[in-house]
Amino acid sequence: MTTSAPPSLAARTTDEVRSLLDDPLLHELHHGLGGPYHLLFPGRFDANAAAFREALAEAGVEGQVYFAKKANKAAVFVERAAVLGLGVDVASHGELREALAHGVRGADVVVTGPAKSEQLLRVAVLQGSLVAVDAIDELDRVLALAAGLGRTARVLLRRLPPGQPHSRFGLDEDECETALRRCSAGPVDVEGFSFHLSGYDVRQRADLAGQLVRLCLHAREMGLRADRISIGGGFAVDYVGADDWRRFTEEHRPEHYHADKTFSGFYPYHSPVAGADALRAVLGATPAGEREPLARLLKAAGVRLLAEPGRALLDQAGCTVFAVQGVKERDGYAVLTVDGTSLSLSEQWFESEYLPEPVLVPHTEESDAGPFPACVGAATCLESDMISWRKIPFPLRPVVGDLLLYLNTAGYQMDSNESPFHELALPPKVVIEHPSDSVRPRWRLDRHP
Ligand SMILES: *Cc1c(COP(=O)(O)O)cnc(C)c1O
Repeated sequence: MTTSAPPSLAARTTDEVRSLLDDPLLHELHHGLGGPYHLLFPGRFDANAAAFREALAEAGVEGQVYFAKKANKAAVFVERAAVLGLGVDVASHGELREALAHGVRGADVVVTGPAKSEQLLRVAVLQGSLVAVDAIDELDRVLALAAGLGRTARVLLRRLPPGQPHSRFGLDEDECETALRRCSAGPVDVEGFSFHLSGYDVRQRADLAGQLVRLCLHAREMGLRADRISIGGGFAVDYVGADDWRRFTEEHRPEHYHADKTFSGFYPYHSPVAGADALRAVLGATPAGEREPLARLLKAAGVRLLAEPGRALLDQAGCTVFAVQGVKERDGYAVLTVDGTSLSLSEQWFESEYLPEPVLVPHTEESDAGPFPACVGAATCLESDMISWRKIPFPLRPVVGDLLLYLNTAGYQMDSNESPFHELALPPKVVIEHPSDSVRPRWRLDRHP
């Protein structure tokens, strides 16, 4: 059997990152911080948020963008959300505390997630946050809590997506009716309905949004406010180019992975419609059973559109940097060991792999020309702790001391699974900013002690 060369899969990146590749800063930071680290680019977060708002404005739709906080734990993104007047979507008391502490107003928070804790619900009601109610028993707890506090709770009723009937989230049609009846008599303000779909399908989102607009009209007949719907998150991110992705998916084979590893599936790293354009597409689509595009239906019904993007607001807003700590030659490829773990690149923990290619940042001038295929292992004692099983065709020969820059990792990759396994320190987060009075980028740590 002849073995073919492993295919390449270049990741999209930005001029900001490209200019850092030629800057001594990356190696200096590694030296100064003494290990792997994450880079954060708040400027990209701002630009992505502006693009989402622009999509709403273009369609003439009133609405609000909430940053789904679970996609990254950094302080800087909630700080930016507060400054920009974005809302934040939280699902735990810790996330709510973070949002409030960084200046997000309680009224700009939406609380999602199933069976929310008593503490989370209490603070949310006291702060006047919007609570997406997931179940009837939860609604009863909200009603009791609000009555006890002498407050009115602001709620959305989360709909179980009819197209995803096995979802464990949301209320089915009958439960929605029950909820509406209970709300019309209790200390709650039903501001509308919500859903969050897995996957990235535009049509499914437009169809269900159309149904939620009708639900609003129905709820109003019961004397409820119902003037907004939330379509959740799930706006795709386009990590790699169309041709690169097609070629990669056609050419890659088990022999292109260390130990002939196979995966049952990969994230759709290329997406022709992504980010704010996906919101545009949803607003421009005509929901099933309707005659007009969603944007028109919303305006005609006086319904505001809330969206909760996580990953898409973080597109190109971060990278993850590891250093090569060892190079082991194998038959036709190398096994690199870096100074971090796959806990800092989460895709492995979903039995998959983050395929967009890391960039090798050499620490010396003289490097042989490649390609040099290499997989990337972690500095742990677990056989399975690989950061990239894939044999990446590096253009230069990787040597100890070189850096690997994994691109576009801010959305879910960098910290959702991090723990100090093996007593390894968690990679610090470094915020990169570009002050107008400086030609060089300026950095600071994400959290001040
Ligand atoms: C996770 C989540 C989001 C964000 O999803 P993305 O795919 O990151 O956009 C939004 N809303 C809810 C309710 C969620 O659970």
